Amino acid sequence: MIDRSEILGILSGYNESDIKIGTICSHSSLQIFHGARREGIPSVGIVLRENKPYYESFPKATPDIFMEVESYKEILTDHFQKRLISENVVIVPHGSFVEYVGSDNILERFRVPLIGNRLTLYWEGDRRRQREWLEEARVNTPKIYRNPSEIDKPVIVKLHGAKGGKGYFKASNKEEFYTRFNELKVKNVVDGLDDLVIEEFIAGVRYYPHFFYSVLGEKNLPRLEEGRLELLGIDRRLEVIDEIHRGLPLIIEDYLDYTVTGNIPVVVREKYLVSLLEDTIRIVSAARKLFYPGLIGPFCIETIYHPVRGFIVFEVSARIVAGTNLYPNGSPYSVYYHDEPMSMGRRIAREVKNALRMNSLDKLVY
Ligand code: AMP
Repeated sequence: MIDRSEILGILSGYNESDIKIGTICSHSSLQIFHGARREGIPSVGIVLRENKPYYESFPKATPDIFMEVESYKEILTDHFQKRLISENVVIVPHGSFVEYVGSDNILERFRVPLIGNRLTLYWEGDRRRQREWLEEARVNTPKIYRNPSEIDKPVIVKLHGAKGGKGYFKASNKEEFYTRFNELKVKNVVDGLDDLVIEEFIAGVRYYPHFFYSVLGEKNLPRLEEGRLELLGIDRRLEVIDEIHRGLPLIIEDYLDYTVTGNIPVVVREKYLVSLLEDTIRIVSAARKLFYPGLIGPFCIETIYHPVRGFIVFEVSARIVAGTNLYPNGSPYSVYYHDEPMSMGRRIAREVKNALRMNSLDKLVY
């Protein structure tokens, strides 16, 4: 794993008067470029040649500089990394960046400074390790079943490498579990039980709040050890299963699919904000304890509100999530922190700007 000192060494060679914010043209990049533009920071878009005209077509959100690639594999080459470094680029690693470059490659081979703590990739990438983090935070989580024979209520079964809900299935008992498991085994999708996580299925209302944790900001919440935590928006993911009612009275098998296809804006009942913020502070503290300096910048927690148990956290995404694309001009929550329209992309650029002013860019980067 590349050591933080090595990345900070590279950052120390950067020309601070010419810092640029870069990312791959995908996922939440329009918002990131738009935000950088609003803060007066130049941006770099790494783009597949054929996608470039589309990213040029948004005059307010096009990056200042394009770096074209034939394939995302080029990003890892020495030549390309040197080019990013010579342009003084700090990368915002959104979900597609992590997916296309690969989290192991980022940890082992990608030497360009990232905004955020790259150790989060290690901690969130593996579901068991992520569970250790949530347990350290002492937030409510769905029960995990180590053995299918223990299944005593509905469960959702998640494949380890699966992204965005793809291929998840539900089961109510061990027989149902093994029927699906054996199908996947025949198709070589799974090898053994180690390739899956069996998680209690929570019936409730889903909320995906987006946070920005500023290590530079003044403490704004009582239990926070330091820094400033801002709730910049909430979304709910639109998954295929959300449309299952369209097949009623039949339960059409094809709708039993958790693949994320979009996002819709949500606000939470105001009195629930307190417990949501308390849980999030605990997740921030646990991250500091397990992988110092812990979370830096944007992240999202995935929760289900259960009327008796309260918020149950089933996942953390330690980066900018696509749900923030709902709020390029700010959200029903960002207005309580900022007088200007503040998207997550802009908030990241604002933090870079503040860090440059305070001579503390190293605090945002690993
Ligand atoms: P994930 O890949 O963990 O983000 O899960 C994808 C989707 O599956 C979520 O957005 C939820 O709709 C659903 N889901 C995940 N875990 C649970 C759970 N424990 N109970 C109910 N639904 C879940």
